[in-house]
Amino acid sequence: MQLVWARPAQTTVDYELVFLVATVGGAAGAATWLALGLPWPHCAFLALTGHPCLTCGATRAALQLSHGHLAAALHFNPLVTLGYFAIAIFDLYALVVLIGRAPRLRIVRLSAREKAAVRIGVVALLALNWSYLLIFT
Ligand SMILES: [Zn+2]
Repeated sequence: MQLVWARPAQTTVDYELVFLVATVGGAAGAATWLALGLPWPHCAFLALTGHPCLTCGATRAALQLSHGHLAAALHFNPLVTLGYFAIAIFDLYALVVLIGRAPRLRIVRLSAREKAAVRIGVVALLALNWSYLLIFT
């Protein structure tokens, strides 16, 4: 695996721009939804099974983070809370490279073994988080 800074070709998708617009737009839409007092989303998985799904607590975690309550956000859904921080860091990076028209950070030459390790790590994190939700919420 290698990390490189490279200028994107003009014919490729601008991933930083797409991700920044999607995440900021999604957050603005969600904030507007809640500010208007519209009904909160309900989890169909929870309604059907009586058990939380992988993303149960995401809305409550976001609300707790918006009030600066990190521990409460982590309680509602640890992985989603960490995901919010990862999104914020990526959005900051995207804003900097877009405004500065700077080279973009890319992962290249990922071996089959490294790809497998990433997949296993993601599945393990999801399973660990879901286990937490099933046990503690
Ligand atoms: Zn759910």
